Amino acid sequence: MNPIVDKEKCIGCGTCVALASNTFKMDDDGKAIVIDPKGDDDDMIQMGCDSCPTQAITLE
Ligand code: SF4
Repeated sequence: MNPIVDKEKCIGCGTCVALASNTFKMDDDGKAIVIDPKGDDDDMIQMGCDSCPTQAITLE
C-alpha cells in the first residue's frame, strides 16, 4: 500500500487518522499527511481511504 493524500481535496475531517493513526496524521494546516505508508495493516489503510468523504486518498 502506498497511500497518497491530495491536500487540495482533504477537508480535514480526521477520519483517516482515526482509522489508521500510524499511517496518517493531521499537519499544521489541518490536512492529513502520510507519515508512514506501511504504518498500519493494509485493511485499515484501505478503510481510511474508502471512508474519506472527498476521495482525497489514493492507493498505489
Ligand atoms: S479522511 Fe479524507 S478528508 Fe478526512 S482528513 Fe483524511 S484525507 Fe482529509
